[in-house]
Amino acid sequence: MTLSRRAQSISPSPTLALTAKARALRAKGIDVIGFGAGEPDFDTPDHIKKEAVKAISEGFTKYTPTSGIPELKEAICKKFKDDNGLDYDPSQVVVSCGAKHSLYNIMQVLCDEGDEVIVPAPYWVSYTEQVNVAGAKPVIIDTKEDTGFKITPKMLGNHISDRTKLLVMNSPSNPTGAVYSRQELEAIARIAVDRKIWVISDEIYEKLIYDDAKHVSIASLGSEIKARTLVVNGVSKTYSMTGWRIGYAAGDKQVIGAISNLQDHSTSNPTSISQRAALAALTSPPEFARQMAQEFKKRRDYMVETVNRIPGLSCIMPKGAFYAFVNISGLMGKAFKEKTVNTSMGLTELLLAEANVVVIPGGPFGADDHIRLSYAVSMDHIVTGLERMHQVIKQMK
Ligand code: PMP
Ligand code: GLU
Repeated sequence: MTLSRRAQSISPSPTLALTAKARALRAKGIDVIGFGAGEPDFDTPDHIKKEAVKAISEGFTKYTPTSGIPELKEAICKKFKDDNGLDYDPSQVVVSCGAKHSLYNIMQVLCDEGDEVIVPAPYWVSYTEQVNVAGAKPVIIDTKEDTGFKITPKMLGNHISDRTKLLVMNSPSNPTGAVYSRQELEAIARIAVDRKIWVISDEIYEKLIYDDAKHVSIASLGSEIKARTLVVNGVSKTYSMTGWRIGYAAGDKQVIGAISNLQDHSTSNPTSISQRAALAALTSPPEFARQMAQEFKKRRDYMVETVNRIPGLSCIMPKGAFYAFVNISGLMGKAFKEKTVNTSMGLTELLLAEANVVVIPGGPFGADDHIRLSYAVSMDHIVTGLERMHQVIKQMK
């Protein structure tokens, strides 16, 4: 059997793989603590579940329009208006099977072979894979703690070429928790408009934001940048609905129309029942996400403070999402029981074998001197898991 070049270029998602590994070990009775979780540990709110049950009882179980039911698209437009100050017509919105699917579709309809897509690193693992599948080339801008893991206008300018098609922005960021300010986004928007590049703004963590940070959608910064931005969002993180698979994209009518055509021939509509549940989610008061964010903030504070007390580890305070992106460069070249750590995967394997703790290596996020720890896990797990890590790491020489 010969796989297509396209298929050969795809690697499995390390975030999903390691989360599955933690689950499998736990099912075998092994006491592992998993810091892999890319999803809130809260249950989907009851009123959302009830709406799905109602949809089933009413027989709302057939195909819907490919781009989503009109009521849901209306609710999404209202959300954009209320939360982000963005005016979209329902014809500028497409509902997909998760934000991941929305992002995939955008890459498919905008990118040609040889196009370049600028992806600031550290990046969420799926962006570069999706660019590769679309036949385009990811152009990485490396960022570090010194700029708060954010790109500067100068860095962006230096990476734009005649082939640049797209820039991928993700604020709040997975994995770093970085949140761009209005002023920072204005500078980036100016360059995107001047250099005529498209922007994807992945805003899936918009409601999980802490301290004085404010979420600003780059698309809201003027009509020119709005015209070339595709805003991506979804219900997965805000309403703890990762399994329901509803995400959406909004922007240029022609691009959205092309995505709808692509969905016509790939997935058709996202699940009818999940669409009704998403409608209930988007039309409910904002308390649920606020409460979640309050709880995550407590866990974040404890995690970041504790990590910074472990010799060899350091972590800047994330302002959004639910990940601590921990610098491990102080451990590189050190060994535990003759196992020397030279990569983020090396440390991940060591911590799994010796501490029964699952972390996510930074390598697949374009940052091999980091690991990602999710704080969307219970405080008990955070306390125990970090203590176990400390016990192993303090013996590394
Ligand atoms: N963007 C980012 C940055 C994410 O972390 C995720 C989480 N998987 C997604 C998009 C996709 O979310 P979903 O497909 O569940 O809507
Ligand atoms: N976005 C989450 C994460 O980064 C979920 C897993 C995935 O879809 O990659 O862990």
